[in-house]
Parts: sequence; structure tokens; C-alpha cells
Amino acid sequence: MRITDRHGGVGSGPYGSRNLGGMCGDDPETVAANRALTAAEFGLERVVFMRQVHGADVRYVKEPFGDDPPPLDGVFTDVPGLGLAVLCADCAPVLLADPGAGLVGAAHSGRAGTVLGVVPALVREMTARGADPAGMTALIGPMACGTCYEVPAELRAQVTAVLPEAWSITREDTPALDLRAAITSQLAGAGVRDVTHDTRCTIETPGLFSYRRERRTGRFAGYVWLEG
Ligand SMILES: [Zn+2]
Repeated sequence: MRITDRHGGVGSGPYGSRNLGGMCGDDPETVAANRALTAAEFGLERVVFMRQVHGADVRYVKEPFGDDPPPLDGVFTDVPGLGLAVLCADCAPVLLADPGAGLVGAAHSGRAGTVLGVVPALVREMTARGADPAGMTALIGPMACGTCYEVPAELRAQVTAVLPEAWSITREDTPALDLRAAITSQLAGAGVRDVTHDTRCTIETPGLFSYRRERRTGRFAGYVWLEG
């Protein structure tokens, strides 16, 4: 499991220097170069990227989708050496592994996807293929934190009606959402007890891309794979 940042790649300006996202306005050749150099650093020949749509659809994969990936927010595989990547810039990358069952998975869990339950869906689908939640390890990567992710009061009310753990306030005492707490609760509810946090807040960490902070920006990624 690895989390990239915005250093060490190619590209400049708002996308510098390791943008891995193909749909945020950066030059496609620059994105391809960053994806290639990142894969090489991790020793991966093939990496699955999704077309993330803030949904809860999850799919088993054996190979990359190519140039036109389907709309998905979670993938999992049992193919050694096949990387799974989830692109983020404030939403959470959530990476799962069950080494005993030989399965790994990756989910993109922002506000909408968390409310829809993309992480529980991924745990469920992996379990249907032989994983055991009690044998899983999870990493919740960097995301907008509960004191930075300000939202309108009505939106907080809608989300916390489904996910009470998400209730939060900013330092200025305005309504906010703590999606890390919500995802942690979802994992616990799904039986995943071994959860690691990369607690960096994207909005507060200049070395990570943050859509809320910069608007025009790139995407970092979480990668997970089974050693080949
Ligand atoms: Zn923060």
C-alpha cells in the first residue's frame, strides 16, 4: 500500500509535479508519464485506474481497463503484481488487503461515496470472493479533515442522518463533516478491525493535491497490490 504526493514527477504549475489524474485538465502525456514513472517506482507493470464517479459500484478486475474505464469507485483483484489505483484530492483513498485470501481492493470514498457505502460494498464483494473481514488490513489515506471540511448545515444534517459519526465543526464553529470517522465506523461495522490511518489533511498539506484548497489541481493516488 502506497500513497503518492505531488513531488518527484513531471509537470508544473497547478499540476506539478506528479499529477496522476486524467480528468482534471492536465496534459494527457504528462499524466501518462507520471503514471509510468510511479508504476516503475513501485515495481508494477500494470495498474488499474477507474473512472471515479462518487458512486458505490465495485468490480472484480484481472487487468487494466485501458483508455475508457467504466464508472466505478471500487475495484479488487487476486492477480499478483496488478496495481489498483484510486485518485484523490480531498476524497479518501481506502485500501484493503486480505493476505490470507490473496485479495486486495481499493475504493474512492468522498462524501457521496461514503454516504452510499462504497467501502462496505468493497468489503462485501471481497468477502463474497473468499476474503475474511477479520483477516483484512485497511489503510484510510489522506483526506479533507473534519475541522476543514466545511459544509452547509443542511448537508451536514443529511449526511449525519445516515452516518452520525460524520458530525463535525470547523475551528470557527461552523458545520463540517468528518468523513474519516464515518469510514472508520463503516469498516468496524463490516468487521474490519485492523485499520491504519494516514491522517494528513489534504487541505492543510501543501505536498498533496487538494481540490478544496486550489480548485485547479491534480490528483495523488493510493496504490495497493499483491506482491507477485
Ligand atoms: Zn484539515
